[in-house]
Amino acid sequence: MRQPACLPLCGLLVLIASCVSEPPPSPKPAFDASNPFFAPSSLPFQAAAFDKIKDADFKPAIEEGIRENETEIQRIADDTAAPTFANTVVALEKSGQLLTRTSLVFSMLTGANTDDTLQKIEADEAAGLAALNDTLFLNSKLFARVKTVYDQREQLNLDPESKRLIEYYKQKFDLAGAGLSDAAKDTLKQWNKEEAGLTVAFEHKVLAANEAGAMVVGDTTALAGLSSSQIQSAADAAKAKKLDGKWLIPLQNTTQQPDLQYLSDRKTRQQLFDSSWMRAEKSDSNDTRKVVARIAQLRVKKAKLLGYANYAQWVLMDQMAHDPETVGHFLDRLVPAVTKKAAGEAADIQALIDQQKGGFKLQPYDWNFYSEQVRKAKYDLNEAEIKPYFVLDSVLKNGVFYAANLLYGLTFSERKDLPVYNKDVRVFNVIDADGKPLGLFYCDYFQRDNKNGGAWMSNLVAQSKLLNTQPVIYNIANFAKPLEGEPALISFSDVTTMFHEFGHGLHGLFADQQYPSLSGANTARDFVEFPSQFNEHWALDPKVFAHYAHHYKTGAPMPQTLVDKIKRSGTFNQGYDYTELLAAATLDLQWHELTNDSLVTDVDAFDADALHRTHLDLPQVPSRYRSSYFLHIWSNGYAAGYYAYSWTKMLADDAFSWFGEHGGLTRANGQRFREMILSRGNTIEYGKMFRDFRGHDPDIKPMLQGLGIQ
Ligand SMILES: [Zn+2]
Repeated sequence: MRQPACLPLCGLLVLIASCVSEPPPSPKPAFDASNPFFAPSSLPFQAAAFDKIKDADFKPAIEEGIRENETEIQRIADDTAAPTFANTVVALEKSGQLLTRTSLVFSMLTGANTDDTLQKIEADEAAGLAALNDTLFLNSKLFARVKTVYDQREQLNLDPESKRLIEYYKQKFDLAGAGLSDAAKDTLKQWNKEEAGLTVAFEHKVLAANEAGAMVVGDTTALAGLSSSQIQSAADAAKAKKLDGKWLIPLQNTTQQPDLQYLSDRKTRQQLFDSSWMRAEKSDSNDTRKVVARIAQLRVKKAKLLGYANYAQWVLMDQMAHDPETVGHFLDRLVPAVTKKAAGEAADIQALIDQQKGGFKLQPYDWNFYSEQVRKAKYDLNEAEIKPYFVLDSVLKNGVFYAANLLYGLTFSERKDLPVYNKDVRVFNVIDADGKPLGLFYCDYFQRDNKNGGAWMSNLVAQSKLLNTQPVIYNIANFAKPLEGEPALISFSDVTTMFHEFGHGLHGLFADQQYPSLSGANTARDFVEFPSQFNEHWALDPKVFAHYAHHYKTGAPMPQTLVDKIKRSGTFNQGYDYTELLAAATLDLQWHELTNDSLVTDVDAFDADALHRTHLDLPQVPSRYRSSYFLHIWSNGYAAGYYAYSWTKMLADDAFSWFGEHGGLTRANGQRFREMILSRGNTIEYGKMFRDFRGHDPDIKPMLQGLGIQ
C-alpha cells in the first residue's frame, strides 16, 4: 500500500491555503515579449517551450501574473454594471491566465527537476500568492456580486455546468469567510497568520526531532540482520554526523521503521522503535505537543467564527463525504473487520515466536521482523524472480496504454519534436477513439536527485472549452534508472504505480468541461484518488497482464505459479496496514471534531482516549503516526482528510466490482465509465455521480474482499 501522498498538484496556485502577509518588496522586473510566458505557447497543445524557458523567466512572469490577476479581480469587483453570470463568474474563470500558465510549468519543474534558484523563487513568491488568495476570496465587493448572481441562479436559465460553477464559487467564498464582518475578517486573518507560523514551527521541530532521534549504536553486533551495504550506509551516516566509529540509523516519518524487519536483536529493535515513538515528546526544544494543541485550538476558533461546530465540518463541506458523521461511520464500518484481521495476523506471528521458543509476547517492534518471516513462508515471493518480466517500456505500451485502448479506444504515438527539460522525459500524442487528437501525455519515470520522492500526476495545460485548451498531462515517478544500454526492469509495486498515475492521467485527458475550475482532476480530495485506484485493477487483469509481462531476454510469459503468488501476496499484512492507517485517520478526525476551544493540555491522553473510543487501541498495532509527528494533519493540508485514501479505495473497488458484474474489460464498459465518471470533472455532486454509475451508494464489501478481510 502506498502512502496517501500522490494527490495531483493540479489546479491554480491562486487557490492555495490562505496565509496573510505582505509580498516582499522588489524592483519591478522586466517582463516583455522576450519572456516565454508572455503569451500562450505556440507549440501544439500550448505545450511548454522547455527549450526556451530559463529559471530567470519565472520570477518576473509570476510577479506580473499576480499583479495582472489582482487588477482583473479588482476590475470585476468594481464593475458598475449590474452583476451577471458573464461579467462576474465567467470573468473570474477567464482571469489569471498568465499566472496559471506560468505556475503550471513552474510546479512541474519544482517537483520534478528543481534547483536552488527555483526553490528560492518558490519561497519568495509564497506570500504574494497567499495574499492574492485573500484578495480574491475576502473581497467584500466581489463577494456581493457573486452572491447576487448565486441568488438569481434558478432564474438565469443556466446550463447545469454553469449552475454548478456559481455554486462552486459561492461555496469557496463562504468557506474562506467572505461573508464575515470586517472585524471578524481581521480576526480570521490574524488566526490564519498564527496558524501558518505554527505550521512551519511544527515542520521544523519534527524535522529536527527526526534528526536528533536517529538511533546510534556503538558496535555492529546490535545491527545483526542488516546487509553489509546497509551497515556501511549506517557507518557513513554516523560519519557525516562526526560520530566516527559508530553506526547511525535515521528515522523515517512513520512510527514503524523500515529496518525493523531486518534487525534480529530484540533490544535494538526496541531501541529503534522507542526512538521513533518518543522523537517529538522529550520535553526539549523539539517537543511539538504545545504547538499541536495550539493549532487544534485555533482551528476550533476559526471553525466557530465561520459558523461551524468544528473544523472537520468546515473542511468536509466541499468533499464527497460532506460531514464528519459520514466519515466516522465509514471508519466504524471498517474497524471491526480490519482489527479482526490484524488480530489473526498477530496470532500467526505469536505462533511463529513460540515455535522458535522466543519466550516473549509480541510487541509493536517485533511485528515487521516476524511478519517478514511469515510472508516468506506463506508467499515465497522473490523480487529478483519477478522483475525480469516487467520491462518498463512494455509495461507502459503493452500494459498501461493497451488497457486504455481496450477500455476507451485510445491510441498513443511517441513524438520527439517537442522540447523536454530532461532527456528521460517522453511525450506521447493521445488519440481518441474517433481518430481526433485528445491531448498530450508526458512521463518522467526515473529517480533523480533533483526530483521530489514518490509519484504524482498533474496538468501542464488544463482542459477548458472556455479557454479553448486541450489537456497536457504528466506522470512523474522515482523508479531506479537502469545502466546505459540495459532495460529498465521494475517491481510489481512500480507497475501498480504506473497504472495508478495513468488513472489520474485519464481523469485529466477525458476532461470535457467548459470551465477550468471544474475540469478534469480538479475534484475533492476524497474523490480524486478514485480514478487512479480504479485503474490499478487493470494491472492484474489476465488479458492485460499476459500482454505486457514477458521475460526481457526470452520473451516468455510469466509462469502462472508466479502470477498466483503476486495475486495472493496482495492480501498479506493488510489487517496491520489498515489498522495503523485507520488509527491515524481517527486521530485526525477526532482532533478536528473538537467543539470546545479550550486548550487540550495532555496530547498523549488525547491520543489514547481517541484510539480507545474507536477500538483502535490494539497493543501490537500503533498508529501510523502519533499526533506529535503527524505532518499530514498539522502541516501538509490533510487536516480532517486522512481518511480520504481509504474512502477512494472503497469507491474504486466498488466501481471495479460493477465491471465484474457486467462482463469485465470491454470497450462498452469503459465507455460508460468514461462518460459517467472520468469525463465529468467536478460538474456533478460526487455522491450522485457515483450512484448514477454504480446503481447504489458506495459499498464497502468489495474493498474488504480485496484486502482479504471478508
Ligand atoms: Zn494518486
